Amino acid sequence: MLQVSFANQNFNSFYTIIPFEENQTNITITGGKGGTGKTLIATALAVELAKNNKVLLVDADVEGPDAHHLLSAKLKKKADVSLNIPVITEEECIRCGRCYKACKQNALEFVLGRAPLFIEEQCTGCMACHLICPADAIKKEPRVIGSISEAKAHGLTLVSGDLVPQQKESSPLINAMKRYIQTKKTDYNIMDTASGTHCSVIAALIGTDLALAVTEPTPLGAHDLELILKLAKELDIPGAIVLNKKGVASDKSIQKLSKKYDAPIIANLPYSPKIMETYCHGVPLEHKEVTALARILEGL
Ligand code: SF4
Ligand code: SF4
Repeated sequence: MLQVSFANQNFNSFYTIIPFEENQTNITITGGKGGTGKTLIATALAVELAKNNKVLLVDADVEGPDAHHLLSAKLKKKADVSLNIPVITEEECIRCGRCYKACKQNALEFVLGRAPLFIEEQCTGCMACHLICPADAIKKEPRVIGSISEAKAHGLTLVSGDLVPQQKESSPLINAMKRYIQTKKTDYNIMDTASGTHCSVIAALIGTDLALAVTEPTPLGAHDLELILKLAKELDIPGAIVLNKKGVASDKSIQKLSKKYDAPIIANLPYSPKIMETYCHGVPLEHKEVTALARILEGL
């Protein structure tokens, strides 16, 4: 089994740009709000593209990966992903307190007259404490933070990340997944992110060719869509919108955001109990809007 580790990471490694192969198209399916149908669209689009292309679907929603359920795919573990954490040797510590001051995560508690107390749940593995320690009292020890699994289904390859419960930082796992998929020869990488605009979503977005934001016509949908489009703009990534559940309310606010951020609405899926049914039965959605979307992306 492959062991992916970050033994020599520096402070900024969470945001390291992991390049993709130049001859691949990388599309990140994202959207600030949860429950908008990101995974539904990502799986449906990947299956549609896989009819004419070599496609990798990457489930980067590592705190609750579920693309395999929608594809009824059986995952097989391919790699553990580990991150270094600090181990303090009490006898070597000169009680200077530098590590405690350097730790931005409050993972080290300074205890008078003793070596600092380490709170593992808070640690992101940045190793600032190790680098700053004047007595070389802080060593590195690898800790498994997650795993990467793979499955074949519906003509595509699914790569899925799974974060160990209680793990604070998911970006290193996302970056490990991006390195892992570099070993694959594909035409399209479709990456399904977690909801929100936090660091694991940023890690997934960096280096992608297109941020496809899935939203719904609700005030919360519009609010979170604006956040993700702002983020894409900040990262200099072109954005486009898939409007899901069209018809449940006015979509004027979505159209306004589309204009404001120069992100065209390139697919509209109506709210339909039938769509929800396919979701519940683990069957990839087939819909003319998804077929049209795949053809648009093939033509880019
Ligand atoms: S920086 Fe090193 S020597 Fe100073 S308190 Fe931390 S572990 Fe001890
Ligand atoms: S590795 Fe980073 S987060 Fe963890 S204790 Fe050291 S300074 Fe804090």
